[in-house]
Amino acid sequence: MIDMKSNQILDQNIKKANSYLARFKKSGVLNHINGERVASIDGETFEIISPIDLQPLAQVSRSGFQDVDNATRAAKNAFSEWAKMDGAKRKKLLHNIADEIVKRAEEIAFIESIDTGQSIRFMAKAALRGAENFRYFADQAVEARDGKSMRGPGQINISSRYPIGPVGIITPWNTPFMLSTWKIAPALAAGCTIVHKPAEFSPLTASLLVEIAEEAGLPKGVWNLINGFGEEAGKALTEHPDIKAIGFVGEGATGSMIMKQGSATLKRVHFELGGKNPIVVFADADLERAADAAVFMIYSLNGERCTSSSRLLVEESIYDQFTKLVIEKSKNIKIGHPLDPETVIGPVIHPVHEEKILKYIKLGKSEGAVVSIGGSKVNGPGGGCYVAPTLFTQATNSMRISQEEIFGPVLTAIPFKNEEEAMTLANDTKYGLSGYLWTSDITRAFRFSDGLEAGMIWVNSENVRHLPAPFGGVKSSGIGRDGGDWSFEFYMETKNVAFATTKHSVPKLGG
Ligand code: NAD
Repeated sequence: MIDMKSNQILDQNIKKANSYLARFKKSGVLNHINGERVASIDGETFEIISPIDLQPLAQVSRSGFQDVDNATRAAKNAFSEWAKMDGAKRKKLLHNIADEIVKRAEEIAFIESIDTGQSIRFMAKAALRGAENFRYFADQAVEARDGKSMRGPGQINISSRYPIGPVGIITPWNTPFMLSTWKIAPALAAGCTIVHKPAEFSPLTASLLVEIAEEAGLPKGVWNLINGFGEEAGKALTEHPDIKAIGFVGEGATGSMIMKQGSATLKRVHFELGGKNPIVVFADADLERAADAAVFMIYSLNGERCTSSSRLLVEESIYDQFTKLVIEKSKNIKIGHPLDPETVIGPVIHPVHEEKILKYIKLGKSEGAVVSIGGSKVNGPGGGCYVAPTLFTQATNSMRISQEEIFGPVLTAIPFKNEEEAMTLANDTKYGLSGYLWTSDITRAFRFSDGLEAGMIWVNSENVRHLPAPFGGVKSSGIGRDGGDWSFEFYMETKNVAFATTKHSVPKLGG
């Protein structure tokens, strides 16, 4: 009976998704420059496929330098009006965008699910989270320019902030809608105009987003979209002299290239990169809750999540008990069609990425770790890129599966003897994005989080995001912070003006 109902919902969802996708199938995925939907100048396109059945989804404009240049010119022309717009008016417009996102939440969620393979249970929330990003930064827009007043001997200094100029936003394929709103909302709230380049694997919801923004009243040219490959469109954007900063989310190797590409024009960069994030479980923790959190943080979003807890460090005395708990909880995770509301794990983004994950699983076995669950491709609906949730036990921290970001549903469990060893293992990685700590000892929680090398740490919790709090990583996991006022520090320049308050003696040179 339950299956019957679930099948009916799935059928309905597929029909709805197809109707939402029809426009992309018919007209392709175009660029959006100065308020117009346009093909790339030379008419070049590339094909995107569905991770569910590997069938073509749409033809996407393949942009080059000239397209990027046109988009940048539009952003440059729109900049002065947008930058000087009253903060309260900008706030209203950004709230309007959030309202429109909420109205079209179903369409966004369905398209995102089909394009990325992420299950609808998570994508439905991603659309609403995108709206929240706009609302949060909309409310900050009014005061974003405010600075400080600082008294010195015989002077008063007054600082204020100004939007840096047109900026480039480059986003990855894993949860493109939510991540794009997360980068774009603060840029607009700060008064910057933008050129957005979404990832080539999953560009669909970026088109919806700019369309929604303009329908909500955003002036033409403030937000421009170019589609294409990283090494073509992305590179041109990072090299463009009129683009003043690049907000980038993606892999460290790409970040490194962007830094080089942007060096000639002294680009300001903000990087949110990869992670190999530890979840550290001590014997005194609430093990049930810790196991739920461990399972959630690695297997939700298909494990294609920068903050996923991909290294499970467990105190030796409870290692067997705890990994058994994780196995029990993971056994019943449903792998299925992403539009099935019961599905937890859908297909991973693309056959290329599936192959990477499967290679790591093979590598883990050859390194001597033991596959305790999963460990293979699954024949899911449509025959696409389904990978079983996988747990490696008897692993060591020096194995490549413990050191390299797999970005899939693969968890590696490593035992530790004591707190000191836990800290050494947790920090023995080039990454430092997030960390998760489970203990009932409050002093240890303080001590351990103090020593853990990570930009974000959750104690006795999975990743629950609070928008005013800083988001970002240390070491190879990133440069800069997003969230709260940190976002404005990136998208704005600070100017200081010093006023003399006394007739001080000005040095006289030459008499
Ligand atoms: P990626 O680095 O391959 O691509 C990201 C974007 O960069 C894409 O739009 C791509 O076209 C573009 N790009 C590629 N080469 C470029 C170049 N030379 N110049 C300019 N742009 C270029 O990353 P991905 O595979 O799309 O995403 C997965 C990675 O993203 C993982 O490492 C993951 O951890 C990371 N990520 C980080 C966060 C975070 O907040 N820290 C969030 C999500 C994903």
